[in-house]
Amino acid sequence: LVSRKWRVRPTVLDLGDGVRVGEGSLTLAAGPCSIESEAQMESIMQHLLDNDVRIMRGGVFKPRSSPYSFRGLGMEGLKLFHQMARARGIKIVTEVMQVSQVEEMHDYVDVFQVGARNTQNFNLLDALGGVDKPVLIKRGISGTIEELLSSAEYVFSGGNEKLILCERGIRTFETASRNTLDLNAVPILKEKTHLPVIVDPSHGIGIRDYVPSMALAAVMAGADGIIYEAHEKPEEAASDGAQTLNFQESARLVHNLRKVYQLR
Ligand code: PEP
Ligand code: MN
Repeated sequence: LVSRKWRVRPTVLDLGDGVRVGEGSLTLAAGPCSIESEAQMESIMQHLLDNDVRIMRGGVFKPRSSPYSFRGLGMEGLKLFHQMARARGIKIVTEVMQVSQVEEMHDYVDVFQVGARNTQNFNLLDALGGVDKPVLIKRGISGTIEELLSSAEYVFSGGNEKLILCERGIRTFETASRNTLDLNAVPILKEKTHLPVIVDPSHGIGIRDYVPSMALAAVMAGADGIIYEAHEKPEEAASDGAQTLNFQESARLVHNLRKVYQLR
């Protein structure tokens, strides 16, 4: 069902308030790795509005390699995130980690994110097949392109056709970067599926200084959008600060992304 053989016409999602995802527009989503506080959200939301970025990312349930790392503000954080975003016309994308959270989070999100560690959590995918909200599925940490498409097929065949695929880097033998951003996946996915394809260069390379060039390359490769991490003070971020852009870097990137998109 997610194949171009089944549907040739590209899928375009309408998140409301004129925010679209898919062919015909460049989708930009930015925000901190983790939602941390009201003040943090206030400053990033103003930054997004100043740069006409309509979607904010930010985790309240964080999958951390160590149980001692910050694991997110949970539902309380999400409710505040939702309230502040609504008031500003900003759309929310945030990670759902388990089946029981789907219902709980439903009314407070615009897009459910399935993280790289959950791409093959088939029970979670089944549950998301039954909701009427868009789902952004990240490629698994060591997942193939075909496996990503199969994960999307779970949600689509369950009845939810509102899907976005995200290349976020895979684990390879290379250790110079956090992950290896597989830009090959962009043209391959665009040919294989009618679904929107976006790229996360922050997790893809994991090194702040190199995030902008990978983001620009992803757009030239045909990505429908970019999701990246931004924070007023990346060095103080509760998670992923090393790959997070400050506002100056973020504003410059948005400007350049729009220019590069025009060149396609
Ligand atoms: C994130 O978006 O902060 C995240 C945890 O991403 P991934 O699942 O791609 O590692
Ligand atoms: Mn992160």
